[in-house]
Amino acid sequence: MCGVIGLWANREVFHDLYQGLLSIQHRGQDAAGIITYDGRFHEKKGNGLVLDIFGPEEAAQLKGNVGIGHTRYPTIGGGGHEDAQPFMVNTPFGIILAHNGNVVNYRQLKKELFEKNQRLLNSDCDAEVILNVFAQELEEQKVKHLTPENIFKAVAGVYRRVKGSYSVVAYIAEQGMVAFRDPHGIKPLSFGRRKDGLQPSYAFASETVSLNLMNFEDIEHIQAGEAVFLDRQRGLHRQKIIHKKHTPCLFEWVYFARPDSVIDGVNVYKSRVNLGRLLAAEIKKKNLEIDVVVPVPDSARDAAIEIARRLKLKYREALVKNRYIGRTFIMPAEIKRQSSVRQKLNPICSEIAGKKVLLVDDSIVRGNTSRAIVEMVRECGAEKVYFASYSPPLRFPCVYGIDMQTKTEFVARDADEELVARRIGADRVIYQTLKNLKKAVRMENPALKSFCSACFDGCYPTGDVTQDVLKAIEEERKLVQESQLELNIKTGR
Ligand code: SF4
Repeated sequence: MCGVIGLWANREVFHDLYQGLLSIQHRGQDAAGIITYDGRFHEKKGNGLVLDIFGPEEAAQLKGNVGIGHTRYPTIGGGGHEDAQPFMVNTPFGIILAHNGNVVNYRQLKKELFEKNQRLLNSDCDAEVILNVFAQELEEQKVKHLTPENIFKAVAGVYRRVKGSYSVVAYIAEQGMVAFRDPHGIKPLSFGRRKDGLQPSYAFASETVSLNLMNFEDIEHIQAGEAVFLDRQRGLHRQKIIHKKHTPCLFEWVYFARPDSVIDGVNVYKSRVNLGRLLAAEIKKKNLEIDVVVPVPDSARDAAIEIARRLKLKYREALVKNRYIGRTFIMPAEIKRQSSVRQKLNPICSEIAGKKVLLVDDSIVRGNTSRAIVEMVRECGAEKVYFASYSPPLRFPCVYGIDMQTKTEFVARDADEELVARRIGADRVIYQTLKNLKKAVRMENPALKSFCSACFDGCYPTGDVTQDVLKAIEEERKLVQESQLELNIKTGR
């Protein structure tokens, strides 16, 4: 999961890009970057938060009315500065590119690009692979000025070679801007117009909240296997290049996306309320005595309010979040996750002591966070602690861009509700069913027929994720985690 924004405007783009990146900071807090264009490219990338990387100096340096910005959540790549996006190649034309997703055949393509195409990749980031495949596909057409047909042909070439999930924004110097989603449209990508000149300005973004904040309207979602191209005159061309089943990532509605975003026509807030409504019905069937419903902030709040309302129970915000500590789930190393739970959440014991508490969270991933929260609530004197997850048990690795790539990480890998409850120390665990998760999303857009639900049921929509692929990714991930852990220990992070 990362956040990407592409902007071609009637004015300097830095401030819009900066605001836009702040609005999708939740999609990646590891690194950020911006490249702008005003006849030449200007670049600033770094590790850390958007606020830490860009200041007045960068605002002055990043000139131009075209630019691409990115916030990184590391999956492939060790998380170094050299892996931060966007990336740039100077031939053909000069291209900059950033993406959100994960390229499954990244290693093979990197080797192929060197051996067959004489392209040396200088990072461990899969965006550089997509960029070079795209550049190669354009170069082979040997044209001086790119037409929409040239662009769509190059994107078709990317679809042929690049496996996995990728929502891409690229700018080709003096030729135009292109955005496309992978053939299954796993990761979100939308665009909008701003009528602020003779021609409208255009923006592409991972989440619609960025488009709203930059005052873009007429928002549309790019379809699975579709490319949108803005030519030299900023004329808009779009083409559905490949026809595969659209399978958007279910976890966007569960956790990743902001509640004020709309993903593929589904208001994220409403989908979370629906999840609360459907889970309330499941909880009711269990006949539990509950005194108070407490959300694990922030993502669980919308569903928890709905659960309390449906079950006619007291709702209390009894866990207070320190907003200045990052999201634990997306921190790269386990050591960070374990130590940060207590710093991140503090209980209001008066609302918990002597009560039968129903905690509500978006998911239970590794179980460390859930266990620490249950322990904290018990220490406050809760009589019973029930734990409700408004998503189903996570049991399978995600190979499409989320940092849960080893099966052994999941607390529910081999367990039913009872065993998970024992593992996290709760009196009872209640999970949402996968059927109800899909239903909650579909209630807001019945046109969505299929989803990626691989982390819940092991069905990988791209059809090319074999046991060997899973094993290779798992081994690579372990190496990255070990080197990250070593780095953290050395630097005291
Ligand atoms: S495996 Fe899960 S987290 Fe990964 S893309 Fe699919 S639904 Fe999303």
